[in-house]
Amino acid sequence: MSDKYDVIVVGAGPGGYVAAIRCAQLGLKTACVEKWVDKKKKPLLGGTCLNIGCIPSKALLDTSHKYADTKNELAEHGILVEDVTFDTAKMLERKKGIVAKLTGGISALFKANGVTTLQGAGQLQAGKKVEVTDINGESSTVEADHIILATGSVPIDIPPTPLQDDVIVDSTGALNFEHVPKRLGVIGAGVIGLELGSVWSRLGAQVVIIEALDTFLGMVDQQIAKDAKRHLTKQGLDIRLSARVVDSKITKNGGESQVILKYTDADGEKEESFDKVIVAVGRKPMSDGLLSKDCGVNLDERGFIFVNDYCETDAPGVYAVGDLVRGPMLAHKASEEGVMVAERIVGKKTQLNYDNIPSIIYTHPEIAWVGKTEDQLKASGDNYKVGVFPFAANGRALAANDTAGMVKIIADGETDRIIGCHIIGASAADLIQQIVIAMEFGSSAEDIGLMVFGHPTVSEAVHEAALAVDGHAIHIANRKKRK
Ligand code: FAD
Ligand code: NAD
Repeated sequence: MSDKYDVIVVGAGPGGYVAAIRCAQLGLKTACVEKWVDKKKKPLLGGTCLNIGCIPSKALLDTSHKYADTKNELAEHGILVEDVTFDTAKMLERKKGIVAKLTGGISALFKANGVTTLQGAGQLQAGKKVEVTDINGESSTVEADHIILATGSVPIDIPPTPLQDDVIVDSTGALNFEHVPKRLGVIGAGVIGLELGSVWSRLGAQVVIIEALDTFLGMVDQQIAKDAKRHLTKQGLDIRLSARVVDSKITKNGGESQVILKYTDADGEKEESFDKVIVAVGRKPMSDGLLSKDCGVNLDERGFIFVNDYCETDAPGVYAVGDLVRGPMLAHKASEEGVMVAERIVGKKTQLNYDNIPSIIYTHPEIAWVGKTEDQLKASGDNYKVGVFPFAANGRALAANDTAGMVKIIADGETDRIIGCHIIGASAADLIQQIVIAMEFGSSAEDIGLMVFGHPTVSEAVHEAALAVDGHAIHIANRKKRK
């Protein structure tokens, strides 16, 4: 005998838990299978994002930013603070509290919406059945008319740097250092490397980031990436490009472990010694043990579960969302895929606009973008126009003494429709959403230029960048011919 549901979701990260809540809202009898447990052996909801990803990393970024600001910036405002000290244990405790509050909130939402939580590792069987093996090793089978797979992703490890206790760690270990390392090596100058490198650098670590590629932030518009590298280097991040780690060795120095990293760059082989090393070279889909041989779901050539634009797998009635499938590994992408699938199950025609998903790197200044980069448009030979406005000319940014960066808007050369926006600045994460909304409604740069923006706000930089597309920003000298 097996329990029967309308929908079973496997994985309770932002893809899975949002899908489960939306299914329940739509009147479907829904269960969510999650293998992680807390100290009391109760299911731990929220996935990577809430437990070891977005939320704890942002908690540390915010704490370390306030500390760095207090030490380095407040004097500029005439606020004199002496003997600023730092309590790492308190920072970690605060982070833990935020995570507990949010993950507990998901349990409450499940209860309120009538979603059944099933503790255990789920494995998809043929015939839309899921075998659930709980923490005690006991298995049971549940079945449903629809299955949503949402088991997320895990860090990639590389042979030269196998993880080692709290010395060579992945992003999870890097969220839990009990002391600020004196010298911290980071492998990979991607999103995690820059965010977690920034956290520990602000708290006093000497941070060296070793990146295999010769381009810094290749996925980012290169005008913005160059500015980002300049600011981050000025803050103390030592970013070494075209450098490939080939070996690591752990030695003891008076009881303290040291990692000797061997890497090669254009000058040959080099060695550096660190107290801690973070491996942040990307993540891979988590499908280990998820699929029985005859379940009918296939993987693509990169190991992601193969799905179409609507997140349907090759097995009818089985869907997959989030980091487990193609597309950017972002919490908001996972959640919106979950919503789309839930709504399509009840017959709605919901779609996701994959061309309009914002990306953000939460350094300071923040880096945020949506749509096409200028580099992509140059390469494809498309006709485009660009408007740039620097925060240095924005009154509110000056008032806050936070003037790094710019807003760059790219519009179609003929139709003026906005096709990309790239922001580096203190509030880039929130500003980019204005252009995401504009792009969803098919706005032109002129539309944004004709709107009234509150004064004084950093949003005015978005307004001015839109005006700059046709050469008539008010607060900078325009070089373009005015129309
Ligand atoms: P996950 O969140 O990985 O959840 C998958 C869940 O499935 C987990 O709870 C797992 O235990 C469970 N599971 C796995 N296998 C099974 C099984 N067989 N049976 C039952 N349960 C199973 N994204 C952003 O958008 N913004 C950010 O600021 C951001 N910061 C990040 C910072 C860090 C340090 C990291 C590591 C990631 C960050 N991300 C961020 C990425 C984001 O966390 C992921 O894109 C997001 O969590 C993916 O959601 P998901 O639901 O697909 O998978
Ligand atoms: P990433 O893909 O962003 O960056 C990995 C970097 O490591 C790349 O620059 C790559 O060239 C480099 N690299 C790979 N192998 C290397 C090697 N052997 N030696 C040196 N460098 C090497 O991956 P990540 O930073 O690990 O993040 C993983 C995922 O998590 C990302 O896809 C991201 O979407 C997500 N994430 C998002 C956020 C956010 O939205 N703010 C924050 C953290 C993580």
